[in-house]
Amino acid sequence: MLALKDLDFRGKSVFLRVDFNVPLDEEGRIRDETRITAALPTIRHLLEQGARLIIASHLGRPNGQFNPRLSLKPVAFRLAELLKVPVKLAPDVIGDEVNRLKCKLTEGQVLLLENIRFYAEETANDDDFARQLAQGIDLYVNDAFGACHRSHASVVAITRHVRRAAAGILVQKEVEFLSRAVHTPEKPYVAILGGAKVSDKIPVIRSLLNKANDILVGGAMAYTFFAALGKNVGRSKVEEDLQDTAILVLDEAQEKGVDILLPLDHLVALSVEAPKPSLTVEDFPIPKDMMALDIGPKTISRYRQIIAEAKTIFWNGPMGVFENEAFAEGTIQIARAVAESGALSIVGGGDSVAAVDKAGLSGRITHISTGGGASLEYIANESLPGIEALSEK
Ligand code: ADP
Ligand code: MG
Repeated sequence: MLALKDLDFRGKSVFLRVDFNVPLDEEGRIRDETRITAALPTIRHLLEQGARLIIASHLGRPNGQFNPRLSLKPVAFRLAELLKVPVKLAPDVIGDEVNRLKCKLTEGQVLLLENIRFYAEETANDDDFARQLAQGIDLYVNDAFGACHRSHASVVAITRHVRRAAAGILVQKEVEFLSRAVHTPEKPYVAILGGAKVSDKIPVIRSLLNKANDILVGGAMAYTFFAALGKNVGRSKVEEDLQDTAILVLDEAQEKGVDILLPLDHLVALSVEAPKPSLTVEDFPIPKDMMALDIGPKTISRYRQIIAEAKTIFWNGPMGVFENEAFAEGTIQIARAVAESGALSIVGGGDSVAAVDKAGLSGRITHISTGGGASLEYIANESLPGIEALSEK
């Protein structure tokens, strides 16, 4: 795909799609600005190259309606502080007023469009809306990795209305690491999958069955597998409608010689809210009024051994309810093992990234993906609509 270095931006009107979908508090203050800082290298590059820069992002879910509480105003303010240049916030996304503002921009100036999801046409990938977005635009850059799995107008359709469409620095880096895991993983390739739901992750598991050597399963997901195998899992979280799929996945793994490992022991409690008493259970049944909320010590030590041998690791989904101290141990220990492994390690997923952060180990992971859904979909489908839409070199 086309990269920033392949294009001359001087004096060009550039439409940059970013992911400024930051969490806001009740008063509309930014709680975490990681997504803004992640886009700074590309923004700085474009400004240094003398682009006339128009930036677009979504924020929250305004469902195609103007909503002042989801205005990008706080983002415009913070972005200006970080860049140390003025950032003008357009009152809208398309239309005459916005077009006038676009025209008035000179080299090195920044215009931030309002929340692009104020228009339902955005999520509908509407071609006429995309044409209006592209009005007066010469070049397009996508640095919104977190939105690349969406066929939306500012991600996909717009690329048909500009001369060239390139990847930003963040998108390039994401694709570089994820594609190594997808196309040329050094073996042993160990995938670690956990988190809340199996349903979100079936396509990823399926794809990993063709590539990984071992799949270590933790989190609530494990109990859908156990239930499917006829185990009595107490009140652990189970997706009843996925049990047939779980069995198919286990059968397919066996055919393909992939080891799917399930927890050997479980930390169980009455509920997340009542962490005590908790106990470690090795055999089924899990007591009928209790639920499994973390992996136990035997599982930790078995998984650690396998992780230590790995050359490539992809991890999505915490091993337990790590948000609660009482059930964080499994996730923290696995994070340590990954950090210490020396493997090419990739962590994707909002909660997984938060867990690694909480363990203070982010700096020791090869690549922390900024896009939860996007990284999973890349691993599953080996590409993304927003990447496919970019120009070739
Ligand atoms: P990610 O955001 O990294 O993709 P998910 O959203 O799939 O991860 O899953 C994270 C959630 O899974 C966390 O909120 C965590 O509390 C929950 N979870 C993990 N293990 C369990 C479990 N055994 N029972 C219930 N919830 C769990
Ligand atoms: Mg999540």
